[in-house]
Amino acid sequence: MLAGGTGSRMGRPKQFIGLRGRPALFYTLRAFEETPEVARIYAVGDRRRIEDLVGEAGITKYATCARPGDARSLSTKNGLLLCEEGPETIVLVHDGSRCLVTPDLVVRVVEAARGGADGVVPAIPVSDTIKVARGGIVRETLDRRNLWAVQTPQAFRLGRLRRLHEAPEEYLLAATDDASLLEREGGRVEVVQGEKTNIKLTSPEDLVFAEAILAAREAASSGVRP
Ligand code: C5P
Repeated sequence: MLAGGTGSRMGRPKQFIGLRGRPALFYTLRAFEETPEVARIYAVGDRRRIEDLVGEAGITKYATCARPGDARSLSTKNGLLLCEEGPETIVLVHDGSRCLVTPDLVVRVVEAARGGADGVVPAIPVSDTIKVARGGIVRETLDRRNLWAVQTPQAFRLGRLRRLHEAPEEYLLAATDDASLLEREGGRVEVVQGEKTNIKLTSPEDLVFAEAILAAREAASSGVRP
């Protein structure tokens, strides 16, 4: 679980922002705790803060915490180096700041990873029209039917993912997700249905969505309308 970002676009680390009285990462950790398919949780980030939260959230699957790197992939690499499992073990890499992830989604990704693919990503079809623009001028309109907005958790076999993170640092720095490293060497990455609510806290307005979704879930689980 990646929680080592500094939140440059939000102005503070997104994974610790308070949502309905709890840090965002509390909800992320709980979702993985509640997924029976997940055996252990490795974190990357500020060990003291994360371990306080692990205690507060009652996380029994927590293993240990790695130091963050200067970029997302370097943080993933540090986390993978701590994993003690065998090379064929399925490993999920998740953005700690996607705190609305559900156990249902995690299970869907794990089940797909047990099939033949080298990697699995959850994604949702893009509903906006996406254009390529340079210098403020549109150069191209992409065919929306082939476009997917990709989320996490992404699933891989531990041994292969570790090897992919031995790539030269220039590739690691350019990678905005883990699957792209696999695609670079021709690996087969399967897409499963993501969830529209599985947003990454990126800018202040995302907090409004996240709070509203959490309120709706709490109300649904207590049988009260929000
Ligand atoms: O920056 P981005 O939105 O891609 O971050 C995705 C996830 O990766 C976040 O949960 C963030 O905390 C984590 N991250 C990290 N180490 C970094 C940069 C981002 O663990 N150096």
